[in-house]
Order: sequence, then structure tokens, then C-alpha cells
Amino acid sequence: MSEQRPQLALVTGASSGIGEATVRALAAQGFETIAAARRLERCERLAAEVGGRALRLDVTDTDSVAALAAEVDELEVLVHSAGGALGLERVAEADDDRWLEMYESNVLGVVRVTRALLPALRRGRDARIVIVGSVAGVEAYEGGGGYTAAKHGAHAIAQTLRLELLADGIRVTEVAPGLVETEFSLVRFDGDAERAADVYRGLEPLRAADVAELIAFCVSRAPHVDIDYAAIKPTAQATAKIYHRDR
Ligand code: NAP
Repeated sequence: MSEQRPQLALVTGASSGIGEATVRALAAQGFETIAAARRLERCERLAAEVGGRALRLDVTDTDSVAALAAEVDELEVLVHSAGGALGLERVAEADDDRWLEMYESNVLGVVRVTRALLPALRRGRDARIVIVGSVAGVEAYEGGGGYTAAKHGAHAIAQTLRLELLADGIRVTEVAPGLVETEFSLVRFDGDAERAADVYRGLEPLRAADVAELIAFCVSRAPHVDIDYAAIKPTAQATAKIYHRDR
């Protein structure tokens, strides 16, 4: 009898942070992996390290998403990690373009990639979808409006998919992290390293690997178990805004 091929996991936003760590964690669990993001060279380095594949992907571009989907015949795990925040302006100073960009990557990106890969997930065995949401998906904070609105949108998409895919037996999980030290703050503050470092001042943030470990846990449960929603925060963080800093 021929052996079954290993299960395949595709991770968006795999060129950095949580997505990159998730590719490593899933490869260590025996998944074949596809690492996808705009910075292809980073994905290629990661793919070479874990023995997987790398594909260029811009989740805001329907053609790019279609090209990705054309490369995937059967898929078991789809992890949406592409996304992030831009700026910390209050509603009174909101920049339409940056708000749109956050909605494009964090919400429509999840929609486009899910829609394009659902046929492959249906052809695969025991399909699971993981959306990397955020505490910002269920809370608000001053200056966070553009990002919290987008992550609330991603949260709603996760809940919608849970309903719409119920009869298909496709599991849907939202993993919602608090502060994780990645390139997230550097991107949010347009490369201002000092401002980014200040976000994590005086506390121990999560590492990308902590979140990846949770994602790997969620997708490795028995087929009848769906971890619907999982929040993960540093011990020093109580809410999106309340931290304990020792300096
Ligand atoms: P990160 O290190 O900045 O990684 C973000 C990833 O998203 C990168 O790989 C980036 O790749 C990718 N990405 C952004 N826009 C994209 C696009 N249009 N098309 C394809 N890929 C795109 O930040 P991270 O912390 O790992 O963020 C991962 C996810 O976790 C995001 O959804 C973020 O909102 C969420 N999150 C982060 C935190 C945190 O504190 N760090 C907390 C809660 C939730 P390219 O630039 O190469 O395309």
C-alpha cells in the first residue's frame, strides 16, 4: 500500500515574525510547508532551512492570490498571519489611505486567500484554517482605531467562516495575541526603531515562537476538536492597554 503524503500547511506573512515562526513550528511537527509573503527572498531562506516551498504573495492583490492558489492542489492547514498596523493616529487625524491599507491586508487579505484556497482545502484531508487576529479584535484603544477596526473585521470573518464551513467539517481557529516582539511595531512606526522598542520597555513580551507553538497546538488536536478562539498575552499584559512595566 502506498504511503500517504505528509499534510501540507500554507502560511501567509511567513517572511517575518509569527508567520515565520509558524512555518518552523509546523515543519517540526512533520507538515510540508509553503511560506508566502511579498519578500520572497526571506521566504526562500526559510523554506531552504525547513525543507519546504516559498511563494511570493501580496494578499491585497487578487492576481497574486490567484497565482498562489494555482500552485496548490490539496491543502490541510491554512494560516493567515499576513497583516499588521500602520500608525497610531486618533480618529480625528485618521489617514484614509493607511486605514484602507490595514483593512486590505488584515480583512480582505484573509477573505481573498480563504476564498481562493477553499477548493484545495476541500480536496485535502481534515482541513483547518487559522486566522491570526489580535486582542485588538475584541478591544479598543486610543489611537488604535484603524487597526482595531480591521482586527474586529478579521474577528467577524473568523466567526462567519465558523458558521459557513460548519457543514464541511472545516475547522476554523482565531488565535489572538497581545504584545509580541516582531517587526510589527517597526512597521507600525515606519521604521522608527526607538519608538518600536519603547512598546516593549520594562516588560517581557511574547516571542513569535510562543504564538507559533499555540498555532501548532491548535492544528494538531483530534479532528473532532476545534479550538475556536485562543487569546495569548504576555504575563505582564492584562488588556490591550494595561501592562505592568518594571521601568
Ligand atoms: P511582522 O513581523 O511585521 O510580520 C508581518 C508579516 O505580514 C510579514 O511577513 C509581512 O510580509 C506580511 N504581510 C504584510 N502585508 C502583507 C501583504 N499585503 N501581503 C502578504 N504579506 C503581507 O508582524 P507579526 O507580529 O508577525 O504579525 C503577524 C500577524 O500577527 C499580523 O496579522 C498582526 O496584525 C498580528 N498580531 C501581531 C501582534 C504583535 O504584537 N506583534 C499582536 C497581535 C496580532 P511581507 O512584508 O514580506 O509581505
